[in-house]
Amino acid sequence: MREDNFRKVIPYTPGEQPGGRVIKLNTNECPYPPSPYVVRALTEMDPDRLRLYPDPLCTRFIKALSSYYKVPENMIFAGVGSDDVLSMCFMTYFNSGREILFPDITYSFYDVWADVYRVPYKTVPLLDDFSLDVEGFKAGNGGVIIANPNAPTGRLEKTETIEEILKANNDSVVIVDEAYIDFGGESALPLIFKYDNLIVVRTLSKSRALAGMRLGYAFGNEKLIKYLNDVKFSVNSYTLNTPSILAGEAAIEDDAYFKEIRDKVIKVREETKQSLKEMGFEFCDSMTNFIFAKKQGMDAKAVFEKLKERNIYVRYFNKPRINEYLRISIGTDEEMKTFIKALKEILE
Ligand SMILES: *Cc1c(COP(=O)(O)O)cnc(C)c1O
Repeated sequence: MREDNFRKVIPYTPGEQPGGRVIKLNTNECPYPPSPYVVRALTEMDPDRLRLYPDPLCTRFIKALSSYYKVPENMIFAGVGSDDVLSMCFMTYFNSGREILFPDITYSFYDVWADVYRVPYKTVPLLDDFSLDVEGFKAGNGGVIIANPNAPTGRLEKTETIEEILKANNDSVVIVDEAYIDFGGESALPLIFKYDNLIVVRTLSKSRALAGMRLGYAFGNEKLIKYLNDVKFSVNSYTLNTPSILAGEAAIEDDAYFKEIRDKVIKVREETKQSLKEMGFEFCDSMTNFIFAKKQGMDAKAVFEKLKERNIYVRYFNKPRINEYLRISIGTDEEMKTFIKALKEILE
């Protein structure tokens, strides 16, 4: 057998999913359960529905998004988590043969999709304060992808910055990955009515406590969404399963619960920032559900390991420019108190 004919890629490394009782602050999940509407939708679902294929158009989920965000249904696309949506976007929009652009420090799946779909790319280094080098995104390219707020830095860029990048890229698609926008940022969503080259991607994994359900979506001009759907229907038409579609619809409909858990995460995040600051940590003013922090003289990898020995999981990236940092997801108030106490003991 000739293995040189295989597609060989270096895969994305997801954060660990340890079993047992641990404090899990490593993959930016929500520490609270999903909405009771979701629980009801799932428990009341007639199991006979599983005999049939799901709705390939995900109509009930799309309709819920459409009425909540006031965006026409033909400007919305749904996928199996935003990873699926983003992967479909790479396949659909980045075929010019020219290099696509994204920051050097960002979601570590972007270079993996570029490799698997044979899309050439160039990274544009973030400035020292981890802000975007806007000028770097004005060079000719085959597309742009930016996470805003960015991961793992937590830093939010202003909508004006996003708009400047959109204006400079009339000929290519600009994807804005808004996985964390619900935690305090201003969304680029209104710009889809003004720019036909913008795709805004979102997820229910972080702010709506449904990482296990795999629900993501995208907004964009009607034509962009049509091409995305054409590719989806050419790969796998039944992406979301029936329970997911119903859970997604229910989660979007329960706005009061969404706001309640989001506000709790934000409050605990601000308290955690305060505690870390008092301990001498430095970090971007995160507008997400995690904090990316370093401390002068701290061996981040060693602290990461020592926290793990105490069953507290955070994320450490052994990569240039960020190997002094820990990325700490925001858990419950109690979890963060335990984390801070452990961190103090380790650093003593
Ligand atoms: C978590 C995350 C995603 C993927 O989330 P899904 O669970 O696949 O919806 C996408 N982009 C960024 C920046 C993320 O942090």
